[in-house]
Amino acid sequence: MRINVIGGGLAGSEAALSLADFGNKVVLYEMRPTKSTEVHHTDNFAELVCSNSFKSESLENASGLLKEEGCKLGSRLLQIAHHHRVPAGKALAVNRETFAEEVSSRIENHPLIEIKRQEICSLCLDESVNIVCTGPLTSGCLEDFLAELFGESLFFFDAVAPIVAADSVDFSRAFVADRYALDGDYVNCPLSREDYEVFWKELVMAEVAEVENFTDRFLFERCQPFEEIARSGIDALRYGPMKPVGLIDPVTGKEPYAVVQLRKENISGSLLGIVGFQTRLKWNEQKRILSLIPALRAVDIVRYGVMHRNTFLDSPRLLNPDLQSKIKRGLFFAGQISGLEGYVEAIVSGRIVAMNVNRFVHGCQTFIPPSETMIGGLIHHVTVSGRSPLKPVYANFGLLPEIKIRNRREKNRVKVIRAQEEMQRFLEGVER
Ligand SMILES: Cc1cc2nc3c(=O)[nH]c(=O)nc-3n(C[C@H](O)[C@H](O)[C@H](O)COP(=O)(O)OP(=O)(O)OC[C@H]3O[C@@H](n4cnc5c(N)ncnc54)[C@H](O)[C@@H]3O)c2cc1C
Repeated sequence: MRINVIGGGLAGSEAALSLADFGNKVVLYEMRPTKSTEVHHTDNFAELVCSNSFKSESLENASGLLKEEGCKLGSRLLQIAHHHRVPAGKALAVNRETFAEEVSSRIENHPLIEIKRQEICSLCLDESVNIVCTGPLTSGCLEDFLAELFGESLFFFDAVAPIVAADSVDFSRAFVADRYALDGDYVNCPLSREDYEVFWKELVMAEVAEVENFTDRFLFERCQPFEEIARSGIDALRYGPMKPVGLIDPVTGKEPYAVVQLRKENISGSLLGIVGFQTRLKWNEQKRILSLIPALRAVDIVRYGVMHRNTFLDSPRLLNPDLQSKIKRGLFFAGQISGLEGYVEAIVSGRIVAMNVNRFVHGCQTFIPPSETMIGGLIHHVTVSGRSPLKPVYANFGLLPEIKIRNRREKNRVKVIRAQEEMQRFLEGVER
């Protein structure tokens, strides 16, 4: 049976490489470079469209558990990510160029993968297995096809932070430290109370770009533009992305009034992303507003923040727990379009769907890890227990079945141990 993977982003690249490594012939469709999206900049497979971080590796963090599970499941992309890591404290951050180049080269040189650089606007649903991995920026014609198939359309908006050149940051007005540490990987740009108040006043008045179909109702709480956060009150940023807690300015020996944090975007640290400053400000306004931060007075913005559309299905109504359509057998979804938000979520869902498609084409029953595991909990949420209409979710301990322990840290620690045991049992079952 012909297996088509539509979309060569994170989920699609993982699914295609995994299926080919299982011994299946795969046709991978990717519309870039013929047609691009608002946020992709290259022709590479598995391009990271925003931050270069795959989040924390610590098992005290839900994303750390998800990554551990992805590695145990045999994720190809997480393995490649480890080859291209750059220093980022407890986080797994990568050099985005070399990471995507290696994924692309593995796909291009795989004897079982055929690449077709074309936009897919409809799917042949009867003779093939299709895995749709077209992500948050699924092209309009495919979105229309899916809307017609399922009888509904769904999209909303997210926002992206600017990236700046490190050599344009004034390091005499910045310091390098992680929270609660004397050194670290983050560049911190402190603001005094006076600096902050001017910055805030100008920010709430700054001009934003018009975005087609944009309404505030569609903003995703976790990825609100920083100007929207600012509008909710003068201190909102100081308690959000600009919080100074645990950061001591070596010049004053005190916590600053507010801080803008910059994180490495490549191994040399020549590019720095502004943490939490996703925005839909006009580009000239981004320049003007950033120049109000003392360390960024003359900053060179190498990639401006943008606002973007986000497409996903109402999966609890439309998908089975194996991420297969309830109405069309052989039509699978992975990545953000299935409602799983985040790079690692996209990758691990691509791996799980590949494992299931491999079983499906060989006439075996599909299965997913139990909901006590982080990937099982995520998939269970988007296909079974999440409320319709769905809001995309990223890994978090709240998704896992409750354990009656009062202390939150201890509860999460026990949830991690239970998840590890369940994953082990699942993997032994897969082998049998
Ligand atoms: C702007 C933005 C910023 C984000 N920032 C982060 C972040 O910092 N951290 C994080 O963890 N998550 C982030 N996310 C969320 C999400 O994790 C990423 O979008 C992730 O890349 C999703 O993976 P995916 O494989 O589902 O989609 P993508 O990686 O976007 O891949 C989809 C692919 O499908 C192709 N395609 C689309 N339509 C068609 C078609 N009709 N035919 C053929 N090909 C098609 C696209 O060109 C693209 O290559 C962000 C999302 C967006 C949109």
